[in-house]
Amino acid sequence: MTAQILDGRAVSAAILERVQREVAEFVGSHGRVPVLATVLVGDDPASHTYVRMKASRCAKVGMRSQRIELDETISTETLVNKIRELSDDPEVDGILLQHPVPGHIDERAAFEAIAPSKDVDGVTRTSFATMAFDEGGFRSATPGGIMALLDAYDVPLSGKHAVVVGRSPILGKPVGMLLLTRDATVTYCHSRTVGLADLVAQADVLVAAVGRPELIRGEWIKPGAVVVDAGYAGNKGDVEYAAAAERASLITPVPGGVGPMTIATLLAQTIKAAREHESAGHLGT
Ligand code: NAP
Repeated sequence: MTAQILDGRAVSAAILERVQREVAEFVGSHGRVPVLATVLVGDDPASHTYVRMKASRCAKVGMRSQRIELDETISTETLVNKIRELSDDPEVDGILLQHPVPGHIDERAAFEAIAPSKDVDGVTRTSFATMAFDEGGFRSATPGGIMALLDAYDVPLSGKHAVVVGRSPILGKPVGMLLLTRDATVTYCHSRTVGLADLVAQADVLVAAVGRPELIRGEWIKPGAVVVDAGYAGNKGDVEYAAAAERASLITPVPGGVGPMTIATLLAQTIKAAREHESAGHLGT
């Protein structure tokens, strides 16, 4: 078996075309452009690249990005205050705090300073809870993108065994919750898991979200499984791609799988936030 590609570039391009149309309609109706504020702390080159890519996609779909770059040495308090300012700013529709922030900063406190109505990257506790309860709030962008990619290929999830490797608050944990809301039977694996190979071998749907190149060997993959590789380190994913593609039915390439879906989800949620702000404004809330 040679797997079909889960083509994140093609699916995200279709989503971004839809977002572009929605932005044009929004500008026509409300006479203003939706604004995504991006907050970047420090000099990490990869984070700068990610924020630049997000800003450039914003421009392509007709949104404005407001870039805030803060020094590596700032305190948690300064960052929290800056994010609160953006939360209170009526001109800002969505806020993205680029993860990770420098180690001395309390990232959770900074995330929680994002108003839930502007949490278009889905990082607050409120967003996690509404997502886990399937109440239609903003999704964590990467997990939301993974679900949109699976849906674009009509991957059945109900009753399937989904194995998620990784349990970070922005990726592993929320993607497992989203798979659970779709009636998959979910197993989480992490750094203390015993018998990773055996658990991976049971997966009908595997989501790898670790950041360790080729941790997951191709020979572990169950024949016919759907493999989603969110990992990205040293230009490689978490899954040994060529060998896995021989056994899987569908597989994401790295790059070109999950990454583009993350940005598309972020922007789709930003136009949704902008529309919700306008309706809240009209209702005087
Ligand atoms: P993270 O916070 O470092 O979490 C990594 C997770 O992997 C942790 O839960 C950790 O377990 C687990 N882990 C580490 N070693 C393991 C092992 N040997 N076996 C099983 N599990 C192990 O990372 P993250 O922010 O979730 O990101 C994960 C990867 O996804 C990275 O490569 C990142 O670049 C990529 N990513 C991609 C996108 C995108 O848009 N494509 C977006 C976000 C992240 P413990 O909890 O026990 O420590």
